[in-house]
Amino acid sequence: SDHALTYPRGPADMDWASLYPAHAVEKTGEGAGDDESHDRDRDDGEKEKGKTITKPVEIADIGCGFGGLLFALAPKLPETLIVGMEIRTSVTEYVQEKVRALRAQNAAPNTAYQNVACIRANTMKFLPNFFAKAQLAKIFLCFPDPHFKQRKHKARIVSYTLNSEYAFVLRPGGVVYTITDVEDLHVWMRGHFEKHPSFERVSEEDEAADECVEVMRMETEEGKKVERNGGRKFVACFRRVEDPRWP
Ligand code: SAM
Repeated sequence: SDHALTYPRGPADMDWASLYPAHAVEKTGEGAGDDESHDRDRDDGEKEKGKTITKPVEIADIGCGFGGLLFALAPKLPETLIVGMEIRTSVTEYVQEKVRALRAQNAAPNTAYQNVACIRANTMKFLPNFFAKAQLAKIFLCFPDPHFKQRKHKARIVSYTLNSEYAFVLRPGGVVYTITDVEDLHVWMRGHFEKHPSFERVSEEDEAADECVEVMRMETEEGKKVERNGGRKFVACFRRVEDPRWP
């Protein structure tokens, strides 16, 4: 159950600075007071937090589990801030502990793993509370729970409605990466993204040239498990297209 979960009221209320301390800076007078989106989101006159981060998070791993993908991507994309989102408390804590340990092993001036963090969240709820419109460049949906039974399909993290939320937080040109070993779920995810007007399927060529696809296949915990068992992995990536222009 996620009854104990708290959510930021909007992206500006999210305390990213404590998740990425090496990328945190004091808010300047200007940034602290007259950030328009901030003011719009806030109606209780609550005090500004003192710090902000120098650049926005651009990659989200939804249902990150034990963080295999996060820890493989972080050194490959050292300039990019990456967040894992996980609903299970103990699993989130495990990933957070591992982040702390890896950062400590790579103490300053080495900044390895300062670009990766994990938060506990039910990503089926309030995703736009965490990320602003068009903030993200990549969203990973790796080996999501299949929820096999028909009556459980509404628990799947791909649906027309949720895809609209992914479309909102992704920038045009950004990509949703999906992988599963359950063919039925692959067909489901493909169908829901292909019929959504905000997405187009990434070509096999582009997929093969994207190093993130290989990382997702080989470095996720589930990807490794399927590999050991000689199972199949179904990959499909979808690009966020530009919104249509209204005349
Ligand atoms: N992505 C990882 C991998 O590929 O190894 C973990 C896959 S595991 C099968 C699915 C994960 O999604 C679990 O850790 C589960 O707790 C998490 N999860 C399921 N529903 C979620 C939700 N609504 N919000 C956040 N995480 C969720």
